[in-house]
Amino acid sequence: MGLIMRTVYVNGEYVSEEDAKVSIFDRGFLFADGVYEVTSVLDGKLVDFPGHCARLRRSLGELAMGLPMSDEDLLAIHRRLVVENKLQEGLIYLQVTRGVAERDFLFPPEETPRTLVLFTQAKPLIQSALAARGQKVVTVEDLRWSRCDIKTVQLLYPSMAKMEAKSKGADDAWLVRDGAVTEGSSNNAYIVLEDGAIVTRDLSNVILSGITRRAVLKCARTLQMKVVERAFSVEEALAAVEAFTTSASGFVTPVVEIDGQKIGDGMPGPTAKHLREVYIAEMRKAAI
Ligand code: PMP
Repeated sequence: MGLIMRTVYVNGEYVSEEDAKVSIFDRGFLFADGVYEVTSVLDGKLVDFPGHCARLRRSLGELAMGLPMSDEDLLAIHRRLVVENKLQEGLIYLQVTRGVAERDFLFPPEETPRTLVLFTQAKPLIQSALAARGQKVVTVEDLRWSRCDIKTVQLLYPSMAKMEAKSKGADDAWLVRDGAVTEGSSNNAYIVLEDGAIVTRDLSNVILSGITRRAVLKCARTLQMKVVERAFSVEEALAAVEAFTTSASGFVTPVVEIDGQKIGDGMPGPTAKHLREVYIAEMRKAAI
């Protein structure tokens, strides 16, 4: 909401953000009946676009929500927004809902047109102050529903968790279910053990399969680092030598404190720093 009005995409049209409108009967608004994707932009190019498209299709499929548009169509919209907004570095949000229908719990007929909205956010991703100093996280009970593998627009609990973190002087929250860390409020969570092993939660319905997670784990394995995908407890995290998170907006961001306790020496760790550099270099090469 800066002084310069962005051009956004709404249901087939490119309009100024102040002219973009969605119905009050949109199911995204009434039922959080929608999914989203966030793709980062570096050097005016899209990072891992095929990965985000694939996950979008999966989220839609899990909710029996078809989207009559090809990946090429979606790519063209992303690219046009990059050009129209002169976006060099930042994020593109894609939001799709089941559409507009009389308020009813039952899904409207499949032919109901989807609501599709895309908008950009210009922001420095590489020169990140948080990545340089490392984030402080607090653990919060994971009270989200049990289909966290679907990237729904239902972000109220993560929002509450971030507010709780902020009220405690921290940067973000790590969510804990049955004593084990699932993920961050909007990122995947990792610890590094004494022997150098990188531990992150295995994929299931309790976490989102991060597009950055997949790419970073691939980098780690290529670098001959040991990767273990399993649950880890808060106690194990507190005793770790390093911790970090991954997401499309944060890439690899070190964690230097959990629940007020320093991790390692309380400085961004070498594994996280190395993975961040390698990940950014790889993604810059492959961006489209
Ligand atoms: N988990 C959650 C709950 C998230 O919201 C996100 C960010 N969308 C992630 C993990 C990281 O996913 P990605 O690497 O695809 O951004």
